[in-house]
Amino acid sequence: MCIFCKIIDGEIPSNKILEDDNFLAFHDINPAAPVHVLVIPKEHVVSFNDVSSEIMGNMSKFIQEVANKMGLNENGYRLITNIGDDGGQEVKHLHFHILGGGKLIWNHYEQNDPHKSI
Ligand code: AMP
Repeated sequence: MCIFCKIIDGEIPSNKILEDDNFLAFHDINPAAPVHVLVIPKEHVVSFNDVSSEIMGNMSKFIQEVANKMGLNENGYRLITNIGDDGGQEVKHLHFHILGGGKLIWNHYEQNDPHKSI
């Protein structure tokens, strides 16, 4: 069972923000911004590449509710999902990162130094 499925089952503790029958939002253990929330479907889906339009549609609504609950709507936030190895996906269970709570840096790709890109 993957680490996020264990969080859904309560086998691994998490700092929950919002939950319904299909989705869970909790604080990232290693935040990259003042607010860093992870949103996951309770059904095990590997990545955005595999998600159905039905789950994605409902998940979009849930993500908007989480952002609203965290007070991010007025000033904005960033929504990221990493896909596969090149995307930097460490946990192979679909998750969206909600980042906010301050002005976020956006690095642009530099051809000769890929490590300087996000
Ligand atoms: P990614 O690199 O997109 O797969 O993101 C995985 C995220 O999961 C990282 O930001 C981790 O800090 C986060 N993470 C891993 N384990 C936990 C955990 N037990 N509770 C909360 N966040 C976690």
